[in-house]
Amino acid sequence: MTVLNKSGSYDLNYCAQCGSDKIERKEVDGRQRAVCLSCGRVFYRNPIPSVVGISIINDKILLVKRGVEPDIGSWCLPGGFMELGETTEEAVKRELFEETGVKVKPVEIITIDTTIGGFYGDVVVIAYGIELESKNFIPGDDALDVQYFLYDNLPRLTFHSHRLIVDRAFEKSNAKNK
Ligand SMILES: [Zn+2]
Repeated sequence: MTVLNKSGSYDLNYCAQCGSDKIERKEVDGRQRAVCLSCGRVFYRNPIPSVVGISIINDKILLVKRGVEPDIGSWCLPGGFMELGETTEEAVKRELFEETGVKVKPVEIITIDTTIGGFYGDVVVIAYGIELESKNFIPGDDALDVQYFLYDNLPRLTFHSHRLIVDRAFEKSNAKNK
């Protein structure tokens, strides 16, 4: 299987190692990859790791209303992409604070989902169960609103992966409460 970026090509015009513009697509280790013909460097591409926080209280799950594209105004799980130099737990804390204004503690991994070829390309979403320090929500720059929703009354979610994660989170939560 060949996995390219969404446009079906590589965005590289110049080699990051030697500056040459002789970049070509070649098969390396069974996949099409960008290779510099001058210095031989192979440009491997990898999925982007991201995190979301799951807070389920009284059968309601915490969601944020998106203030940024794609799909401004739709709802999704709070979270985002990891930054360099941080752990997954630190990423959850940072993203949740940025979007909801509340400090959280990641307590367990609920599930991990992989999206292939979505809006952001290939993304790994690590979903953490979290505990909140308070419920004094202050929506951040990227968020328009923060609310809890009943499972039976969920709004449409921006990302299909988030819907799958929400389903699994409620399954787990229900199993735990039985
Ligand atoms: Zn090169």
